[in-house]
Amino acid sequence: MEKRALYPGSFDPFTLGHLDIISRASAIFHEVRIGVATNNKKTNILSLDERIDLAKKSTEHLKNIDVAPIDGLVIDYAKKNDYKVLLRGIRAANDFEQELEMSQINRALSLKRHDEDPIETIFLMTSPEYSFIRASRVWELLNLGGDITSLLPKAVSSYLEEKNIGYLQEAR
Ligand code: ADP
Repeated sequence: MEKRALYPGSFDPFTLGHLDIISRASAIFHEVRIGVATNNKKTNILSLDERIDLAKKSTEHLKNIDVAPIDGLVIDYAKKNDYKVLLRGIRAANDFEQELEMSQINRALSLKRHDEDPIETIFLMTSPEYSFIRASRVWELLNLGGDITSLLPKAVSSYLEEKNIGYLQEAR
């Protein structure tokens, strides 16, 4: 049985939805690494160091979780670090379509590039109370002066509230 999983994403910022997925995964796997993407198609608002730091602070109570940057292709990182399982979360039908495609691409690429056992993706479905939470919504709400505390772990909401104005100016 596979004991380790890699949970890749942007985590811009780390939300209660991410925390729900990682907390549940920590009870399934022996170890889970949150892999924070350094370069992807998204333009991130928080820097890599901030995204890593906030993911670490939000999960410090979970002993079998760690956080690290992922540079380049997820499957190459997984291969190099001996992960055979990727973990992802699904909120709704549109997530399903994207995640299906991504998991198939990763599987095919991993077979082709590494010519051995493919990388498999395992999905956890969102808990209903977090199904509406997505990172981009945090920035929308902040922009409109909405309350973000119900979407975020305490460490993240405190940090964003403190830094709020600077980020919104940078994002414009
Ligand atoms: P991306 O890799 O698209 O940048 P994110 O960093 O936002 O994605 O999220 C990483 C993973 O966590 C994705 O699989 C995403 O679907 C999942 N996720 C994000 N928010 C939630 C939520 N509220 N419930 C379940 N899964 C979630």
